[in-house]
Amino acid sequence: MKSLDAYAEFPVRTVLVSNLFSLASYALGIGIMLKAGLVFALFYLAYILILEVRLLKTSCTYCYYCGKRCGFGKGKISAFFFGFGEPKEFNSKTLSWKHMLPNMLVVLIPLGTAIFYLLTDFNLIVLLAALFLAGLSTAGNGYVRGKLTCKHCRQRELGCPAEQLFNKK
Ligand code: SF4
Repeated sequence: MKSLDAYAEFPVRTVLVSNLFSLASYALGIGIMLKAGLVFALFYLAYILILEVRLLKTSCTYCYYCGKRCGFGKGKISAFFFGFGEPKEFNSKTLSWKHMLPNMLVVLIPLGTAIFYLLTDFNLIVLLAALFLAGLSTAGNGYVRGKLTCKHCRQRELGCPAEQLFNKK
């Protein structure tokens, strides 16, 4: 079994797998939104990009892994674009489910769209895309966070509001 020191930086394969899950979710969401039209898909893509930039700028810059290879590979990207923040700021906020709503909408918007089209104009591909998206955002996300990333994360040891919210007793 690896010690926590082994995760001073994460293995490249962890970054690849965690990003594969994220990109697959985004691709499924965009695919579903294309059913509503190109404009809706582009707005959805812009929404994802805004959330990703917000995360890099307002969270990753304060993380232990800023400038290092974290489980999602964002530590190096955030340091490159936004520099280094004050580490004690990372755990200064308390997250609630209300704060998580913008992130949850990344899944809920395409799932809601898929349900609308399944009820009005059934399509097997839309059904399969919705099922895969639901699976990736629940079991897939649980696997990535529970087995590959958060489980080994040093920032979790130092304090992580997201981890505290998800593992609230
Ligand atoms: S515990 Fe998870 S959510 Fe928190 S900083 Fe680490 S990898 Fe990110």
